[in-house]
Amino acid sequence: MGDLHLGGIALKPLVVLGATGSIGSQTIEVAERLGIPIAAIAARHASPQLVELARALPDAEVCVVHRGDEAERLEQVAGDRLHFGSGSVTEAAAIKNATVVNGIVGSAGLPPSLSALYAGNRLALANKESLVSGGPLVRAALAEGEGELIPIDSEHSAVWQCLRGEDRDSVRRVVLTASGGPFRGRPFGSLHDVTVDEALDHPTWEMGRRITIDSATLMNKGFEVIEAHHLFDLAYDVIDVVVHPESVVHSMVEFVDGIVKAEVGFPDMRKPIQYAITEPDRAAVESEPFDLAGQSLTFEAVDIEEMPCLRLGYEAGRAGGTAPAVLNAADEIAVSAFLDGHIRFTDIAAVVANVLERHDVEEPDSVDHIAEVDEWARAQAELDVEALRA
Ligand code: MG
Repeated sequence: MGDLHLGGIALKPLVVLGATGSIGSQTIEVAERLGIPIAAIAARHASPQLVELARALPDAEVCVVHRGDEAERLEQVAGDRLHFGSGSVTEAAAIKNATVVNGIVGSAGLPPSLSALYAGNRLALANKESLVSGGPLVRAALAEGEGELIPIDSEHSAVWQCLRGEDRDSVRRVVLTASGGPFRGRPFGSLHDVTVDEALDHPTWEMGRRITIDSATLMNKGFEVIEAHHLFDLAYDVIDVVVHPESVVHSMVEFVDGIVKAEVGFPDMRKPIQYAITEPDRAAVESEPFDLAGQSLTFEAVDIEEMPCLRLGYEAGRAGGTAPAVLNAADEIAVSAFLDGHIRFTDIAAVVANVLERHDVEEPDSVDHIAEVDEWARAQAELDVEALRA
């Protein structure tokens, strides 16, 4: 497939990983809106939604990690286009001359990110684990391959856009905004008795269950601090966080002359997804007029001592190496134990802190190495969860 030229912008065919998830479906919407061909889609299971996608996209290769309930129907619909196994996803990410949108949730997102970068593709990245757990590997792939890495997350897309045309040495500080989640303004220590439903009630963004809990603890912001460190090659000391409940200012960059740039807009993930695909160009689409009249925007300082998950994010980031992979894996276990009603909301921070405490940081040298550390951290977190249930 050649490039599509849209109003002078050359757009490469898309490979959509995590095609049935929130980022994946919005990417397909963006692709339809812009008329960009989709070369491949990938998902974890053969689900009814994937069968529908395979039918709607008759030219796309279809990659599935596990067969799932709908495997036979998917075989009927996709025929020769269907490929099974995690290797098929990694191969799809290496399709020549493509833009790979990685919306996979979890550590399965790292190998295809590396594959896309080594193949010289553009990687439009929404998978957190790629940079949180595999930051050093992704940076090596970026340095050695001819690929490009463009972030999709609203905060990082904002910083990316603010930094366009700027000299990296002229950055004084980056400020990531955080909605603060449903418990904004309440100290973490006072949240012993909050319920799963209360924690899942995110005021501004519709997201998956884990990321919604991670937003409520501010662990998600800790991950984003680590991602910003890798994406923009910034020291942790110059990455700040401010609470901004309206989620209109997506993030800001302060320069050495005191001038501050921000990227603003009403929350809509299709915008940063589209930008990551068309960057450095912009494709015209219909959108709601941006009107701040009558709106008020508020900002609150974050007390890092009051928010232990954010503090752990900075600590793991500064420790570097395998520490952020441990942070992520322990958090995933702790969050699912909370969602299952096994531990309290406030125990999430305790579990993660304990596992990090027991970890000897190493420099990760391969995906397998990160997978080993990830497995170790999960097992350790399970032990802590068990101890808390007893
Ligand atoms: Mg975000």
